[in-house]
Amino acid sequence: MRPSFIQAVEDAHRRGRIILMDGPMGTELQQSGLDMEKELAHRWNLSHPESVKVVYEDYTNAGAEALLTNTFSAHLGFLRGDDDWLAAIEAGIELARQPEWDHLYCLGSAGSAVGNDAKIIPGLVQTIAALQNCDGVLLETQTRMDRVRDVVDALPFADQTPLIVSFSFSRLRGTSECWIAETPNGTARTAGEVAAWADGQARRLPYLAALGVNCCVNLRLDDFVDIIRDYRKQTDLPLLARPGITSTIECEFNPRELAAQVKDFADAGVTLLGGCCGTTPAHIAAMRQEIDRLGLGWQES
Ligand SMILES: [Zn+2]
Repeated sequence: MRPSFIQAVEDAHRRGRIILMDGPMGTELQQSGLDMEKELAHRWNLSHPESVKVVYEDYTNAGAEALLTNTFSAHLGFLRGDDDWLAAIEAGIELARQPEWDHLYCLGSAGSAVGNDAKIIPGLVQTIAALQNCDGVLLETQTRMDRVRDVVDALPFADQTPLIVSFSFSRLRGTSECWIAETPNGTARTAGEVAAWADGQARRLPYLAALGVNCCVNLRLDDFVDIIRDYRKQTDLPLLARPGITSTIECEFNPRELAAQVKDFADAGVTLLGGCCGTTPAHIAAMRQEIDRLGLGWQES
């Protein structure tokens, strides 16, 4: 029998191995006609389930070992009072949990705590509650530590679903600084400060399974590696990286370039690796090949 997700993460972390995740759903669904300006992507679990399934097939064929539910925007459906937001989450879990993929892990995606709506925290808490039956939940693309703290504090302590918290950093053009905003008036936090905070949370939240960096704005690939290194200096938590592409020459990377960083990510301390916005199944396949070539797959003895 396969180990639980948390056992797999801890085993891979201890042995310096990598669990390969999938890539983004939203930018892939755009290829099938999703207009993210007009429609929340999670609603496609109900309206276009075949399109969602095709993306998962592409990622499983690429060698992904964990699939993320198409529920990043579900809390926004809750916020605006959609009557189908919960049904869309349930459909999203079912789509990522096809019987033929029962050897893969299914992680629930809970999205970003941006915006000023007072219901943003309850919306995310309810979304995470609806994702409880996944193998874990990824609270991703976060840019506000204060909001993440509020979400984590509102989660019931008894819950044992592993939670991964992942932040999206920005690099100011022309500088080497990566930062996230702590408050609406923009107090900046470095990766080291984020990791020190997460390390403190881990002491009281036994289900905090990993700390991550995903998506991001104006980051080059080596910025992602640097963030992982900075995280590692402050915490022994397992670490996740899902680099996203910012469409500038400096910040774009092709599958070969991403694969070339696998060794650096592993050396920096990454356990969970995948892709975010703009990466494709080809990026995941290239990382699969490199992980296997280096003998870094967590399932290899
Ligand atoms: Zn992204």
